[in-house]
Amino acid sequence: MDFTEKLQQELDALQTKGNLRRLPTLEHDGRYVIVNGQRMLNLSSNDYLGLATDIDLRREFLETLTPETFLPTSSSSRLLTGNYHIYDELEAELASRFGKEAALVFNCGYHANTGILPAVADADTLILADKLIHASLIDGLKLGKTRYLRYRHNDLNHLERLLKEYGSAYQHIIIVTESIFSMDGDKAPLRQLVALKQRYPNVMLYVDEAHAFGLRGASGLGCAEEEGCIDDIDFLMGTFGKAAASSGAYLVCSRTVREYLVNHMRPFIFTTALPPVCVAWTLFIVRRLAAMNDRRQHLDHLGKLLRKRLVDGGYKTSGTSQIVPMIVGESADTVLRAEALQRHGFYALPVRPPTVPEGTSRIRFSLTAALTEEEVCSIPL
Ligand SMILES: *Cc1c(COP(=O)(O)O)cnc(C)c1O
Repeated sequence: MDFTEKLQQELDALQTKGNLRRLPTLEHDGRYVIVNGQRMLNLSSNDYLGLATDIDLRREFLETLTPETFLPTSSSSRLLTGNYHIYDELEAELASRFGKEAALVFNCGYHANTGILPAVADADTLILADKLIHASLIDGLKLGKTRYLRYRHNDLNHLERLLKEYGSAYQHIIIVTESIFSMDGDKAPLRQLVALKQRYPNVMLYVDEAHAFGLRGASGLGCAEEEGCIDDIDFLMGTFGKAAASSGAYLVCSRTVREYLVNHMRPFIFTTALPPVCVAWTLFIVRRLAAMNDRRQHLDHLGKLLRKRLVDGGYKTSGTSQIVPMIVGESADTVLRAEALQRHGFYALPVRPPTVPEGTSRIRFSLTAALTEEEVCSIPL
């Protein structure tokens, strides 16, 4: 059998099991998507604040540009000639907003999570990671030379047991978690993690705020701001591709960590830096996030409303965020439910094993502040 035939056979096997993935053909129309000629309200987007569909915001940004300042490429790694001034401006803005010594911007969250830990953690370090962390963090663990163990999701007792049992053999320990988890929409107990860390002299915390940046805290900096523990998190990262309606990622950290990453982090060094125009748009948004409490409150209200509707309808759900799972159970039922929602004009997608545990297949509603209360009330559950 030749190579292509072998690949094709594996694809055929995936298709037989109903697990073949295909890129959807879809058109965007503001808050709507059009799939197979059907126009549906998008309930699967990470545009949590509704900024990506806000034409006024785009118009205002475009007015700041001229053909001379519209820079569609950096043409180089930042260590060579790709380090435009706008990068320094964004990093200074982030460091100052978070009240941290330094910030570093990356091309995306995937780069950040596959690059930071492999760069800073060596064989004398042990990583203890939540069971439900994002695939990008898992890939980072696999790429590094560091031993890692997983603790049961949000289970501080299990984490502390591992810490006691294995921790003494290592010089440093890094606990890795997300702040809001993408499948259950629930939140990590950040303050308790900080308290745990403070009981051990050699423990550090790494927190991924991809689903919380722009959404939580008095000025939208994330759950760490909401919980008042920004200063206690050693590696605080987040992404710009979700609520901030841009692309890229950041880490706020000490000056030393920043300089170390500039020297050692491969996905930072060996890639063409983000286009300056994209960084300028990110900065434009970041400067406006603090003033977006109305959107944040509206989104919070929509999440509570949908959860209440689910519970009233006898469904299992979880979490406290804009990510609202409707747990159906069996995969086949879940797919049918998603199809029914789509027929009614709501584009919500099923999530099945292995992404979630067997028997917990779900519809994952991803709410945005651009939705109205009426729309959320009219989702047929
Ligand atoms: C989306 C996401 C990422 C990846 O960020 P990108 O900028 O899209 O590469 C990383 N971590 C978490 C938790 C995410 O949800």
